[in-house]
Amino acid sequence: MSSWQRLQRMTREEQRDMQDHLLQRYVREQLIPFSPFYRELFKAHGVRPEHIKTVADLRRLPLSQKRDLLPTAETPQRFKQFVLQPDAAAIRAAWPLQKKLPLLWQKWTQGAEAVRARIRAEYAPCFMTFTTGRSAEPVPFFYSPHDIQNLHETGRRLVDVMGLETEYRIANVFPYAPHLAFWQVFFAGQATGMMALSTGGGKVMGSSGDLRAITRLKADVLIGVPGYVYHLLRRAAAEHMDLSSIRCVVLGAERVPPGMKTKIVALLQELGAKDVRVFGTYGFTEARMAFAECPTPGNDYTGYHLYPDLAIFEVVDPRTGEVVPEGHDGELVFTPLNARASTVFRYRTGDLVRGGLRHEPCPHCGRTVPRISSDLTRESSLKDLQLLKVKGTLVNLEDCAVLLGGMPEVEEWQIELRKKDDDPLEVDEMTVHLALREGCAPEATAARVRETFHTRLELTPNHVEFLGLESMLRRIGMETEMKERRFVDARPKS
Ligand SMILES: [Zn+2]
Repeated sequence: MSSWQRLQRMTREEQRDMQDHLLQRYVREQLIPFSPFYRELFKAHGVRPEHIKTVADLRRLPLSQKRDLLPTAETPQRFKQFVLQPDAAAIRAAWPLQKKLPLLWQKWTQGAEAVRARIRAEYAPCFMTFTTGRSAEPVPFFYSPHDIQNLHETGRRLVDVMGLETEYRIANVFPYAPHLAFWQVFFAGQATGMMALSTGGGKVMGSSGDLRAITRLKADVLIGVPGYVYHLLRRAAAEHMDLSSIRCVVLGAERVPPGMKTKIVALLQELGAKDVRVFGTYGFTEARMAFAECPTPGNDYTGYHLYPDLAIFEVVDPRTGEVVPEGHDGELVFTPLNARASTVFRYRTGDLVRGGLRHEPCPHCGRTVPRISSDLTRESSLKDLQLLKVKGTLVNLEDCAVLLGGMPEVEEWQIELRKKDDDPLEVDEMTVHLALREGCAPEATAARVRETFHTRLELTPNHVEFLGLESMLRRIGMETEMKERRFVDARPKS
């Protein structure tokens, strides 16, 4: 692994040369010899390892996607085919002499058991997280000790990109679960020696428990899911608490809706915290790493700063799978360069990015690493209900989320779909449930919601209903569910 200090100042040409070299080696020495899934996939497409010399050659390779990982009747444990599985014969055949010599030397000086231990430390799964989502079976992603070292390294880099001081104390309120977000923060703390308190989030300690912990710790950094962090701060404001110790808020696991940073800064100001930095981050289970924005006084959406020695991102047209010209919108495709255990390659993330990848140096921090535009629609946040047919029109629910989350008069919301009179043969009905900010007029807000939905989504809700904040929080399961229930499809399945 290259030094991060050097990497973040490399020119684009130097990065490209490095990636060409790393990619070529990764395909020849790891992926094709050890990955059952990709060996077969490449064979089926007539791709040989020597075809892959540069990053530009990637586009000759087939894309893979989440569907490939899901169990089938014949292969109930399909995820295992994505785990790198080296054996002595495959190593002998695939590795060049200069990579085998150290192993031979070790076998000669320390014995065969020492060599086996070394291979285990690089490849044997010792940790796992799962993809989230309610409809599909969760898919496990394994990490070897080598991958855990990478998780330490990306933790250090996240801290560096966000400019967090090592003496800062971290309150991690991500839900305690085998999900990347929680563990990336945990390992960042381990790697940097920062004091991190992981409360497990609202479901484990409740928001009052979390707030008590944050004030007692005098946390400098608050890290969690946007909706829950906002909920916590609102509760603290209602109770006139002192959260003046907080300097940074890091949001992850879900899209940061536009307007959310401003709302968080305003609440924290009420709570005594001044000059707060709010960061969005981007990561997903299959990448087994996360990326962050860098700090600016105005909390700009600076884009997610990438690690060119650990992964390559491409942007493709989601319909054709073809790479789009630089700076164009499209779907992010992920290729790791240093992964062991569970490994995906040229993998469609399902996440759509507006503005694509940026290669010019960051105007804020000057780092030269590529950045993914912060304007990202997460497939993972709404996997189950992303595109729904409502009243015969396809509706992207993420658009609804952005519209409602961006309205300053809306505190919390939920969208419910039913059949009229609960009759399966009747038409669809959409109800928008709202909890309003104090002092906002319900009728005026209802009219604005109808109007906005009509003009932006060509769909008018049948009902707009109002609830008190507490009943709304119960309705969306703010402190009882792993994920807030923002969309409820109560239509009978036909
Ligand atoms: Zn930057």
